[in-house]
Amino acid sequence: AGAASLALTLTACGQSGEGGSEASSDSAKGGTIGIAMPTKSSERWITDGANVEKDLKAKGYKTKLVFGEDDPDQQVSQIENLITQGVKALIVAAIDNKSLNNVLQQAADAKIPVISYDRLILGTKNVDYYASFDNEKVGQLQAGYLVEKLGLASGKGPFNIELFAGSNDDNNTKYFFNGAMSVLQPYIDSKKLVVKSGQTALTKVTTLRWDGATAQKRMEDILTSTYTSGRVDAVLSPYDGISIGILAALKSDGYGAKNKPLPVISGQDAELASVKSIIAGEQSMTVYKDLRKLAQVATDMVDASLNGKKPEINDTKSYDNGTKVVPAFLLQPVSVDKSNYEKELVQGGYYTADQLK
Ligand code: BGC
Repeated sequence: AGAASLALTLTACGQSGEGGSEASSDSAKGGTIGIAMPTKSSERWITDGANVEKDLKAKGYKTKLVFGEDDPDQQVSQIENLITQGVKALIVAAIDNKSLNNVLQQAADAKIPVISYDRLILGTKNVDYYASFDNEKVGQLQAGYLVEKLGLASGKGPFNIELFAGSNDDNNTKYFFNGAMSVLQPYIDSKKLVVKSGQTALTKVTTLRWDGATAQKRMEDILTSTYTSGRVDAVLSPYDGISIGILAALKSDGYGAKNKPLPVISGQDAELASVKSIIAGEQSMTVYKDLRKLAQVATDMVDASLNGKKPEINDTKSYDNGTKVVPAFLLQPVSVDKSNYEKELVQGGYYTADQLK
């Protein structure tokens, strides 16, 4: 879908409600908050941007929202511009977690608090709080689902599995992957799971910028080089956009036909196209992260920081960015498949039933 139609289909995707009208400058007594999101190429970040703006406006702030087109240099200059424009605080979802050091020093010099949004910013003391999900749990849910659907716990197997991870410059990638491997490794060790390609190290399975086409190409290469005999029974995929690429590669290899069922395949973000794919019986599951709650947590952190208060924190040990342990609030991810999407996503108000038709 083109950017315009993507934006159109998103209007109700997990957004925190209706309205979102401009706050008047009178009510914006808190000044302007800068929001830097990584990309518009995945719908989750568009939703994040909209939710954060809406919550900040409801708290009496004005907002400036920028998207970095997945280009780290562009994100740095966007944040520089926000600082020059006099924003009072920054909410940043980094593209490259290590590239923001200098620009965040500029923020600190201007006494601008910085909230690391969803992805931890590394290597700088100039990050005040971290708002995210339990990222290791995300990986555990993905792998746990594969194990359950294959019937490994009840002794079935061996099965073939292939592994995919996210972008190597995103700090979340290793949390997702390590969480998943904590579940899969015992079965790999006992040979109940076989990674036929031999590609098991994180460095071998990452997908730069979480790009679906890159993952599709890698899956095609694996199918050609490794599966001249035997079949893929399961795929660990870290994110819905990657799952879509992997499914495309599998389908053009004949998977999905009657005698060649698709493998069990995970995902993340409950993006619209993937929820539809789950309903259609292609992608097996996704990890749903309620972005409305994440926006609430991040904007509460901003509001508290600007009012000399301490925001609510529930984790003070898991997220060391190499310079400090960043106080965090971590939300709980939820495993969603065909059996519970209606309860979680429709009854939960994240999507309307119509959107999923
Ligand atoms: C986020 C995921 C998302 C991925 C790709 C990660 O940092 O936590 O929710 O799927 O980036 O955008």
